[in-house]
Amino acid sequence: MSIAGNLKLHSDPHIALEMISILHQMHPMAECTLDFDSAWELLLGGIIGAQCTDERVNMILPLFRERFPTIEDCSTADIGEIESVIKSCGIYRNKAKAIKESATMIINEFDGRVPDNEENLLKLPGVGRKIANLVMSDYYGQPAIVVDTHCGRISRLLGLTGNENPVKIEKDLQLLLPREEWISWGHLMVAHGRSICQARCRKCGICRLKKICSYGSQIKLERKDKEDSNDQECY
Ligand code: SF4
Repeated sequence: MSIAGNLKLHSDPHIALEMISILHQMHPMAECTLDFDSAWELLLGGIIGAQCTDERVNMILPLFRERFPTIEDCSTADIGEIESVIKSCGIYRNKAKAIKESATMIINEFDGRVPDNEENLLKLPGVGRKIANLVMSDYYGQPAIVVDTHCGRISRLLGLTGNENPVKIEKDLQLLLPREEWISWGHLMVAHGRSICQARCRKCGICRLKKICSYGSQIKLERKDKEDSNDQECY
């Protein structure tokens, strides 16, 4: 059973609003952690980023830009050349295939422009809801929630969803979060997941969400001694 399996689920949007407010205070600089200059580069970053850190993606993107300056360059490239540029990011053969096929589809079917709607983004090889939402939100500025592993895990701990499936998580969050916060929610989850609510080290003792977080408030009851001392132990 998942760690969030027995946690209380919040259904009150006011709780979610309070969480957002606290998260903004805790992570005022939270933003997209990929370095991109265009919708195409953000799309590339999403594809390359599967099972790979943003830091590595940010190292690869400039190399990619230098070797394949345009989407057309990428669509006509030898797939082995694409593989050689992205090799350090893991599962590179699948990613190279998706990149080349997506570039070709963008040239042939979308006039060389990365689609600005989810329906067409999802037609691109290697593009699922997470990447489509990434492009929609962080490039086109459209309200969309990027559900990555940080977002899914922390949203469950907070009690905003009981689901493991990213599509279901997205729907649960859409019901609780105001549309104007959909973009920032993904950024806040990444920032919080890297600094405080880490997968292997939840620092509930110093987390300002602990009183309203389903997981954190439960820990407080069970381990009051540590909470009272503001202990920073991971638990
Ligand atoms: S209280 Fe703990 S589980 Fe909840 S968000 Fe904070 S660190 Fe994560």
